[in-house]
Amino acid sequence: MINSYHESIMRIYENIRNDEKTALEKRKEEIQQKVPEVIAIDNNIRKLCLELAISSMKQVENRDELLKQLRNKITDMRVKKSELLVANGYTQDYLNLRYKCPACKDTGYIGSSKCSCYRQKLVKLYYKNSELSEMLMDNNFDNFNIEFYSTRRAGEEPESPRRNMEKIVSKSINFIKNFSSSSENLLFYGSSGTGKTFLSHCIAKDLLDKGFFVVYRTAEELMQNLRSIRFENNDAIQDLLVSCDLLIIDDLGTEQISEFSKTELFNILNKRLLKKSKILVSTNYSLKELLSIYSERITSRLFGNFSLCKFYGDDIRVTKNMHSIKP
Ligand SMILES: [Zn+2]
Repeated sequence: MINSYHESIMRIYENIRNDEKTALEKRKEEIQQKVPEVIAIDNNIRKLCLELAISSMKQVENRDELLKQLRNKITDMRVKKSELLVANGYTQDYLNLRYKCPACKDTGYIGSSKCSCYRQKLVKLYYKNSELSEMLMDNNFDNFNIEFYSTRRAGEEPESPRRNMEKIVSKSINFIKNFSSSSENLLFYGSSGTGKTFLSHCIAKDLLDKGFFVVYRTAEELMQNLRSIRFENNDAIQDLLVSCDLLIIDDLGTEQISEFSKTELFNILNKRLLKKSKILVSTNYSLKELLSIYSERITSRLFGNFSLCKFYGDDIRVTKNMHSIKP
């Protein structure tokens, strides 16, 4: 799917196969030194297999009988080879090729479709040197502390920040659980410092660990990408933004807002929604503010196709600092 990575991944498979070939040669050399009969038998098996292949194509008298004899000979030799290996302390498959992924024999493909190990390689490759993989070391569900949210109701909100957050977390966990089957999108909105970015990182981490392709962009980075798609025909980025399993747009509203940015934002949202590819948007703005910043086209997409999650409460970054100051 992400075309620009395809070649690199195919090279990784090629290297795996070459490494294994080299390793097998080494194992053969070792056996040649220690149990040379095994290699002699192995060579004989190869000759007989060749003979079998040739004979099966030839029209000779008693062909079936001849083929049967050859097959029996090969089986006998294979048994002998295994017995010798085991008797000398080796496993019986010591001289077979070993695969990291037996399903696709380290080719990445089963027939014409991609093996599941292909996708894992894609995700790994993409995140190898990215900032996100660093952020996710800390920002994940293991470090999520619900106690930073107050149990006291304040203002006009119907529930305490903690109760509200518990609901959002459980919604997020369901989002991850049903990721393959549902087409739900999430809009995290509300005042700054209430954990929107942190929670979106937690979701990204869990999905990446499951092998889904997550692309994370701040709204400003997304705009830079969209400019490079429009003005530099950057197809690789276009492919990435449209085809990834989840696109996270963080801090919507902090990008430079222009007619261009609004049109391109609309286009990318639309493309993904049409493909039922999921999106998670977070913003510090209220729904009313979003309405006044963006066109009706964008807000109707956001409000109509996303599950809305309102974050509220005290600024967690302040609360966290106060906790760390206390003796
Ligand atoms: Zn595989």
